[in-house]
Amino acid sequence: MSAMNPIHPVLSYLDPARPEPWSSFLEQIDRVAPHLGGLSHWIETLKRPKRILVVDVPIVRDDGSVAHFEGYRVQHNLSRGPGKGGVRFHPDVSLSEVMALAGWMTIKNAALGLPFGGAKGGVRVAPRSLSRAELERVTRRYTSEIGIVIGPDKDIPAPDVGSDQQVMAWMMDTYSVNVGHTASGVVTGKPVALGGSLGRQEATGRGVYIAAREAGDRAGVPIQGARVAVQGFGNVGSVAARIFSEHGAVIVAVQDAEATLFNPAGIDVAAAMAHTASQGSLAGFAGAEPIADDEFWHVECDYLVPAALEGQLTARRAEGLRARIVVEGANGPTLPEADDILRRRGILVVPDVLANAGGVTVSYFEWVQDFSSFFWSEDEINARLESVMVKAFAAIWTLAEERSLPLRTAAFIIACQRVLAAREQRGLYP
Ligand code: NAD
Repeated sequence: MSAMNPIHPVLSYLDPARPEPWSSFLEQIDRVAPHLGGLSHWIETLKRPKRILVVDVPIVRDDGSVAHFEGYRVQHNLSRGPGKGGVRFHPDVSLSEVMALAGWMTIKNAALGLPFGGAKGGVRVAPRSLSRAELERVTRRYTSEIGIVIGPDKDIPAPDVGSDQQVMAWMMDTYSVNVGHTASGVVTGKPVALGGSLGRQEATGRGVYIAAREAGDRAGVPIQGARVAVQGFGNVGSVAARIFSEHGAVIVAVQDAEATLFNPAGIDVAAAMAHTASQGSLAGFAGAEPIADDEFWHVECDYLVPAALEGQLTARRAEGLRARIVVEGANGPTLPEADDILRRRGILVVPDVLANAGGVTVSYFEWVQDFSSFFWSEDEINARLESVMVKAFAAIWTLAEERSLPLRTAAFIIACQRVLAAREQRGLYP
C-alpha cells in the first residue's frame, strides 16, 4: 500500500479541521423540524442514514504494487423509492461528506417530487493521479463491492465530482456482468449508446440556469445583462456559465481548483471550456486576468453560482459578498451561519436542493427510458425538465413568501413533509 493512501478509519469524518457536512445537514433538519407539525414526530428518521456501507477498494497499480482506497455508499432514506445519488471520486471524500450528500439527495428528490429516496457514494481517491486503466480498476472493484446494495430497483448511482459517463459505463458493465444480464437502469449519466439520456450531461447546468431565471424574474434581476460569477468550471459550472451567457448574461469571474479569473467585459465561455478541455484547468487561459483566489468572493455581480464543493460560502465570505442572488450549483456550498448572514444582508439564496436538481431530474427520465426501452428526443427532455423545475420552484417560492421563510427552509418543509408522510403511511416494521 502506498503512503499516499492511508487507511482512513470509519470515523475519519470527525475531522475538527474541516467544517463537517453532516453537521450542516443536521442543523438544516433541526431548522425545519418546528415547521412540520405532527410529522415532526418522525424527524429522527432523517437524522440517521438508513444504511451505510464502507468498503475497501484494493487494486493492482500499473507498476505492480497494490493500493487500497476507502469507498462508501450511503442510503440515507428509502421511504419514497429506491436510492438515487452520485458517486464522487475525490481525495477529500469522507464518510461525513457522503452522509450529508445522501441526505441532501433525499431532500432534493422529495422537493422535486421524484419517486426516489436519497443515496450517495464516493471513493477517497484523486482520479487524476491514476492512469485510465487504474481508474477503471478502482471503478470496477468499487462497483463490485457495493453491488450488494445497488440495482435498478434498489439504488441507482450517477456521476458526481471526479466521475463521468465513462465511469458510469464501467459501473453498468461490472454490475451487469456480476448479475448475468445487461442492467442499463443500474446507473444514470451513461453514454447515450448504452441507454443514457440525451440532455443528461448538461441537465444540471441547465437546471441551475432555470432556477436562476425563475428567481431573477421574481426578484427583479433580469438575466439579460446580468453579471455572473461561477466557482467550479466542471460539468455543472461550465455548462451553467455557457447557458447564462447564451441568454445575454456576462460571465465576469470563474474559478476552478487551480485558477481564479476576472474579466469585467465578459469571459468567452466557449473558449474557456475549450482551454479546460485541452489543459485540464482554467490556469493559463488568456481571455481574463488571474486574480487572488479569495478575491473571487469580493467580485461585484448579480448572480454568484458556487458550483465546486461544499462548505465554500463561509460566514466571513458571506459578510463580504457583493452579489444579489446566490444560486447553489454545488451541493452544500453555504454553511448554515453564512445562510443567516446572507438573509440578514438581503441576498437571496436559491438552495442546492432546488437549483442543482436538473441533473437528477433528467437521471429520472433516463431511468424511466431504460425501463421502457423507449427513448425521447432532446427537445422533449428539455421541455419536461423545464416543466418539473418551474413547478417545483413555484411551490417553494410560494411557501417561502406565505411564511416569510428562506427558500431553503421552504424546500426542506415540502421535502420533509413528503418523506415523513411516506414514513408514517408505511409504518414501522415490525
Ligand atoms: P466536476 O468534477 O465536473 O467539477 C468540479 C469543479 O470544481 C472543477 O472545475 C474543479 O476544478 C473545481 N474545484 C474543485 N475544488 C475547488 C476549490 N477548492 N475551489 C474552486 N474550485 C474547485 O464536478 P461537477 O459534477 O461539476 O460537480 C460540482 C458540484 O455540483 C458538486 O458539489 C456536485 O455534488 C454538484 N452536483 C453535480 C451534479 C452533476 O450532475 N454532475 C448534479 C448535482 C450537483
